[in-house]
Amino acid sequence: MRQQIAAANWKMNLTYQQAQELIKGIINIPHTLAAHQRAVYAVPFPYLTMVVEELKGKTNTGVAAQNCYTKTSGAYTGETSVEMLKSINVEYVVLGHSERREYFNESGDLLAEKVNIALTTGITPIFCCGEALHIREVGTQNDYVAKQLEESLFHLAEDELKKIIIAYEPIWAIGTGKTATAEQAQEMHAHLRSVLAAQYGEVVANEIPILYGGSVKGSNAKEIFSQPDVDGGLVGGASLKADEFVQIIQALK
Ligand code: PEP
Repeated sequence: MRQQIAAANWKMNLTYQQAQELIKGIINIPHTLAAHQRAVYAVPFPYLTMVVEELKGKTNTGVAAQNCYTKTSGAYTGETSVEMLKSINVEYVVLGHSERREYFNESGDLLAEKVNIALTTGITPIFCCGEALHIREVGTQNDYVAKQLEESLFHLAEDELKKIIIAYEPIWAIGTGKTATAEQAQEMHAHLRSVLAAQYGEVVANEIPILYGGSVKGSNAKEIFSQPDVDGGLVGGASLKADEFVQIIQALK
């Protein structure tokens, strides 16, 4: 069975105290995660250690960084390496989020390098892709998103690709309150799986979790996650509320 994941993306929000209150709040709301399910928390760098500590002993949970650099160490002031993340028990890194592509000019080639260094260090990339509204309006979203995978992932060997988690996040649905319909999500996820299958074969394609991101809420998670090719969500705004994020975790199939 494919892994099902509810991933929280706290982005650049919350003070340390608020972040601690939130993670404790989530832990204190009774919820269960089956063996094939994971709750992953992508939190700001200064809070990684605290969240790792708070989640100690909580099964099927993990912590993600929201970015990393392409080098393991050296004179790169202000950057964070995957070696550093590994040393504090961070297991995942979000790469290629549309906000990083847009505001920090992260290209497909740069993301390929980040994917490589993460995999080499044993950190799982949560690789984001997704089209802007003008692309969907002209109907070229399938090719656009397939190209994002090609540019940053298709140099990988099969056993490397198998370690990737993909998050499809239509930019027009991120933080806008405008969610893709469950059908739109399923259509794109099935397309992405077919693109993966064409490159790596059906068996591999069927093993890769593909998360949906874009205004997932407690109230719509169940319907979106119920789609056959949707394996959970990457959740921004709604992951900042303990009860709502727990509702989203419990919507995993
Ligand atoms: C995100 O940040 O990845 C995201 C999907 O945000 P939101 O859930 O707020 O749309």
